[in-house]
Amino acid sequence: MPLEIVTVPCRSDNYAYLVKGDDGVCIIDAPEAAPLIAAAKARGWTPGALMITHHHGDHTEGTAELRAAFPGLKVMGPKTEEAKMPPLDMALTEGMNGGNGDAYTVPLDVPGHTLGHIAFHFPNAGVIFTADSLMAWGCGRVFEGTMEMMHATMQKLAALPPETLIYSGHEYTLGNMKFALSIEPDNPDLLARAEKVKAQRDRGEPTVPVTLAEELATNPFLRCHVPAVARAVGLPDATPEQVFAEVRKRKDSF
Ligand SMILES: [Zn+2]
Repeated sequence: MPLEIVTVPCRSDNYAYLVKGDDGVCIIDAPEAAPLIAAAKARGWTPGALMITHHHGDHTEGTAELRAAFPGLKVMGPKTEEAKMPPLDMALTEGMNGGNGDAYTVPLDVPGHTLGHIAFHFPNAGVIFTADSLMAWGCGRVFEGTMEMMHATMQKLAALPPETLIYSGHEYTLGNMKFALSIEPDNPDLLARAEKVKAQRDRGEPTVPVTLAEELATNPFLRCHVPAVARAVGLPDATPEQVFAEVRKRKDSF
């Protein structure tokens, strides 16, 4: 059975998700409980698991209330961030896996934004929940890791099948669009995506999911090997790692 995925806007600009597969319903991230409870109840769904990507409050603060609403909810999150998170029933590391069919899930280490950030990959369904690592048309700010670490994370995600659907953790896409266009103002793929994204936001629709192929064609953080991107940040002879660090630094003050 294909996954049923519900995008649930939370707080001012967070996205959490309900994912229904053959073996039940899980929640990805807990920015706040009320919208997730409402979205689940509206469908008659009882989530059995909450899967958290990283320790930041805007991904965890709804945990206790979700536990109270859904008795038996199993809370899972990255083992390396366990001490900073609400109590976990299962601490996850890369290489663990679970679920059946399209709901088969593998956590991937995607450090940089936080040191223990994980993404939830559903390889059979061709879907990944990346939260604040790879984001629609952008990438998360590097708070805890190094630029090299975040660049390696981008490379790891770039190697997934290009048709993979990326579901990220925030609606930052219009801001990311303006920054991307400042780097590659003449790239026709960016200009076409800009029209699409503006129309989506005008209709009040989320700009997620997006295919990895579209990110590879338009996201400057995945394009640090492209000469036009290196030239745009004044580093025509630099390595992709060095270009990434400069692009990320410029986005911080954009
Ligand atoms: Zn975060």
